[in-house]
Amino acid sequence: MAADPTVFRFAPSPNGLLHLGHAYSALLNADLARQRGGRLLLRLEDIDTARCTPALEAMLREDLAWLGFAHETPVRRQSAHFADYRAALEALAGEGLAYPAFMTRGEIRRHAAAFEEAEGAPWPVDPDGAPIYPALDRLLPEGERRRRMAAGEPFAWRLDMRRARERLVAPLLFAETGGGEAVDVPAEPELWGDVVLARRDTPTSYHLSVVVDDAIQGVTHVVRGLDLLPSTSVHRLLQALLGLPVPVYHHHDLILGSDGQKLSKSRGDVSLRALREAGLGPEDIRRMVGLSGKGRAMP
Ligand code: GLU
Repeated sequence: MAADPTVFRFAPSPNGLLHLGHAYSALLNADLARQRGGRLLLRLEDIDTARCTPALEAMLREDLAWLGFAHETPVRRQSAHFADYRAALEALAGEGLAYPAFMTRGEIRRHAAAFEEAEGAPWPVDPDGAPIYPALDRLLPEGERRRRMAAGEPFAWRLDMRRARERLVAPLLFAETGGGEAVDVPAEPELWGDVVLARRDTPTSYHLSVVVDDAIQGVTHVVRGLDLLPSTSVHRLLQALLGLPVPVYHHHDLILGSDGQKLSKSRGDVSLRALREAGLGPEDIRRMVGLSGKGRAMP
């Protein structure tokens, strides 16, 4: 019996123009899928419906087509699947693993600053450098929680990390092939504190939707930038809590700018579009990201 095909996906957010870092990730996914005889999906991570626009999505798809990124259709667009993420959130909340959190980001920052002022010690930060949420809303009496929800006060849904960790008896590991050989990496989701599962303004979060979608789409190999390695700990925890399959992870190095910093849309780094307009072709892009010739191999 033939083995099930491997499934790779490139999952950009259409909130800006694609740059060389995206090109590297997309082409590496395509190369690895081809080497494995696997399937190649494109997923549009557009849960931030204010920043992700149809015009940016159209440009993104045009840039990928120009690059020769040959993905399957239909393309999954996250904003069309909020009900799937809602169902996962309800499953977690039903298990007592998620709770409404009213504190705003500004309040969290002020709480951290007041602590530092009073204690003369740093408040902990998450792997992205944001202050850890102090989990005060977890302690709210049920009556007050209900009253504030009924009054229409905005809130996010957060994961009760301590309780979630206590649920799991087996060690939480994921297979990582980014360094060459496959190694089992221990997940450390607690570094993130009580992460957001659904934002105040969006009925899901990056972490929740990526995990749900990778499962629904049968993704077997997640190939993405090293900047997302710390997030994988949260993803692995959510997979365990929701009973979802666990893909193999391959976090690739990042393409850096001439100043040694990670490329980003917000820094206004050179877009693929600008490179194309300057007369470069897809083969030039492959060369610039170090993928000309045979491409990189994956164990
Ligand atoms: N949408 C994410 C980004 O553009 C990538 C998510 C992923 O590959 O898991 O950074």
